[in-house]
Amino acid sequence: MSKDYIQRADKVVASTYKRFPLVFERGRGCTLWDIEGRQYTDFVAGIAVCNLGHANPEISRALSRQADKLFHVSNLFYTVPQVELAEWLVGRCFADRVFFCNSGAEANEAAIKLARKTFFDQGDFNRWRIVAMDQSFHGRTFAALSATGQQKVREGFEPILEGFDFVAFNDIEQLAAAVTDKTCAVLLEPVQGEGGIRCADRQYLKDVRRLCDEKGIMLIFDEIQTGIGRTGKLFAHEHFDVQPDIMTLAKALGNGLPIGAMLATEKAAAAFTPGAHASTFGGTPVITAAALEVLRIIEAENILEHCQKVGDYFKSRLEWLKDRYPVVEEVRGVGLMLGMKLSQKGAPVVEACMDKGLLINCTQENVLRFVPPLVITAEEVDRLVVCLDDIFAGTGTTETC
Ligand SMILES: *Cc1c(COP(=O)(O)O)cnc(C)c1O
Repeated sequence: MSKDYIQRADKVVASTYKRFPLVFERGRGCTLWDIEGRQYTDFVAGIAVCNLGHANPEISRALSRQADKLFHVSNLFYTVPQVELAEWLVGRCFADRVFFCNSGAEANEAAIKLARKTFFDQGDFNRWRIVAMDQSFHGRTFAALSATGQQKVREGFEPILEGFDFVAFNDIEQLAAAVTDKTCAVLLEPVQGEGGIRCADRQYLKDVRRLCDEKGIMLIFDEIQTGIGRTGKLFAHEHFDVQPDIMTLAKALGNGLPIGAMLATEKAAAAFTPGAHASTFGGTPVITAAALEVLRIIEAENILEHCQKVGDYFKSRLEWLKDRYPVVEEVRGVGLMLGMKLSQKGAPVVEACMDKGLLINCTQENVLRFVPPLVITAEEVDRLVVCLDDIFAGTGTTETC
């Protein structure tokens, strides 16, 4: 049955994705079922998106309540859910203003445009360069891929957008040397996701903030993957006691519905005057009503606390595996954004897990990435650890974990 759909898809859908041969039909919490009725425990969550699990009934009700009233009117007018979502967000972080869009890449586009226009408006016409990090990931639109420190996303698309300089992550001296009188901003992920779950050092982020203040330039945090509770705090930068001027969000904000947001302080947002930037669908009522429900649930159900607790437990179990198997080189990450660096390719492990009904992901070829729904339980974590234990031991004793 799956085979038929896969063959049909491979004829008509652009072949930009290397997909696993699974056709999913429904989900609940951390469980997914494919069209053959096979069950999987999900440690991918649509790549750090479905933080509250699949088919969450409360989000679904909020969505349909709004859909019964009003889908869309454009940003020529005001709507209530958009205001409420913006108020919720600015009420819980450094920011004063929110620009809504539809994806992570678009949120970064907005941040890049805002940083450039800020200095243009001040008459500082040559200050439009941005320093970004090696191994970063900021999306696939032209500006976002130009800001991404991985050659593979750019290949074939050059010339890319001008004005991005790259330095090694966690190296303040390289960064200080790269910031010139043409630099308008520094852009980084507090924890690099696609780059292999690499955390910023605490002192590094403090030094980056100080450098940006000294030079009078903007600090942009891409929290598209780390935001909305993924690391056990609402935003990852809260772990570091460092605030940016601009932050971008997307992935988990809609729990699977497409929404992006760029948040900025009053001062940083000043250059976004009427007409400066826009999005037809940005902050549309149905999606913002759902996102508001996502955030309400995160608070009402103490999801952050749960994420910290299960995340700590999960990490300790991965470290236990590291102590047992030399193939595991390093365990890293925070909350439920965890990575396990192997001394060999991760793809066979991903496939072996899949055969046992567990979905995990691999990034940078040899880093297993675990970004399950934040509602995952210790029992589900145990199931994965037993499975990984089996795979690394080469015993393959358990049929389904
Ligand atoms: C996923 C991701 C993006 C891109 O988001 P899209 O919605 O795919 O455009 C940008 N930055 C980070 C850190 C991401 O993880």
